[in-house]
Amino acid sequence: MHIREKIKAAGLKATPQRRAIYEIMQDACHCSIDEIIARIKEEQPDVTVSTVYRILDSFCETGLLTKFVNAEGKTIFDITPHEHHHIQTADNEFIDIDDKQLSTLIKRRIINKLPEGEEIDNIQIQVTTKVKPT
Ligand SMILES: [Zn+2]
Repeated sequence: MHIREKIKAAGLKATPQRRAIYEIMQDACHCSIDEIIARIKEEQPDVTVSTVYRILDSFCETGLLTKFVNAEGKTIFDITPHEHHHIQTADNEFIDIDDKQLSTLIKRRIINKLPEGEEIDNIQIQVTTKVKPT
């Protein structure tokens, strides 16, 4: 599906700014707001920071993007909309781990520890790595 159709299928108007931000996300896969702003300013210098925030919020609300907090506490936007896990490398890159068995294992191990009347909403494991000492 092309960018325009994906945005429309989410119930949003495919404005030039929305298309540009979605294209940046398709290219980068995982991106902080600072990186997104820096990249869109190269193409569209007039776009405001608040517009970028609004677009990213609408993308997350409609399921086009997800977001998570990295090891440094920074919000990272993610092009993969379904539940998955991450390895955050020493270079600050993210590797997607799409492993339903891992999620199922975690669910089984913690199901009895949940507060009464609550259920698991989302499981996201984040493994950080560092360069091995030589
Ligand atoms: Zn991801």
